[in-house]
Amino acid sequence: MPVDIKDKVVLITGGSSGIGRAAALDFASLGAKIVVTAAHNVAGGEETVKLIREAGASGEFIKADVSSEEDVRNMVDEVVSMHGRLDCAFNNAGIGPDGVRIPYVPLTDLDTETWDSIMNTNLKGIFLCLKYELKQMQKQEKGSIVNTASIGGLKMAPNFGAYGPSKAGVIAITRSAAIENAKNGIRVNVVCPGPTKGTNLMSNTMSVNPEEEKILTEHVIPMGKMGTVEDVARAVVWLCSDFSGFITGQALSVDGGMHIA
Ligand code: NAD
Repeated sequence: MPVDIKDKVVLITGGSSGIGRAAALDFASLGAKIVVTAAHNVAGGEETVKLIREAGASGEFIKADVSSEEDVRNMVDEVVSMHGRLDCAFNNAGIGPDGVRIPYVPLTDLDTETWDSIMNTNLKGIFLCLKYELKQMQKQEKGSIVNTASIGGLKMAPNFGAYGPSKAGVIAITRSAAIENAKNGIRVNVVCPGPTKGTNLMSNTMSVNPEEEKILTEHVIPMGKMGTVEDVARAVVWLCSDFSGFITGQALSVDGGMHIA
């Protein structure tokens, strides 16, 4: 049975690379109208739009920093003025444990600028996106939102700095938004990817520690392999679709079993 995504208006934050781009291309293959956003990597965002259009779907790019309330409000307004509505939002923009990438830093070495930067992007960014997306979806009395947290929001690890707490916060605010809007026709869920290849975040990690993949696949991930961006994207598309219509407030791990190991 095909997923019911055709002609749905889908907003994807952090769509210039990695998981966001893969989700954009999955939505494109199903005939959605996609708007991708990113704060800095404009060239990457424009490349995603090119790929969406090559797949025969509608694609637009908006430059927006999720940590800026003005940018987020304008981003949602622009989507609505382009397409008249907002059916699905994938709030995926995020940065790694030391502000850009992994490796991790111990709390005693974590400077407040890095803490603020991670919290502002990973948690405040999700709050702002939810605030303006929910306002629009409440007018429509329908909508589906998926946030990106991480295995790092479920299992704490040494030296996870601000990243783990920021992602635990994403899971908590997802549940809060889900329960507030359960009677408004709006579902809010969150995906928790494990270590995922094909992303800038993980490529940067590998360049710092080339042994990382070996350690993860031999000792940490029960299925013995890294996730792919497509693994996460498919879960997102399903959670956005009406096929998951009775699911809300769910934190779905896409991690080869890492959260139970
Ligand atoms: P990525 O670096 O390829 O993608 C991150 C995206 O977020 C990019 O498009 C970037 O431009 C955008 N972004 C960063 N800061 C932003 C801001 N302030 N405003 C708007 N956009 C911003 O890495 P990815 O792995 O695809 O990351 C996507 C999400 O997945 C992140 O939330 C990340 O924390 C999460 N995640 C990734 C992994 C992994 O192993 N790759 C694992 C768990 C969770």
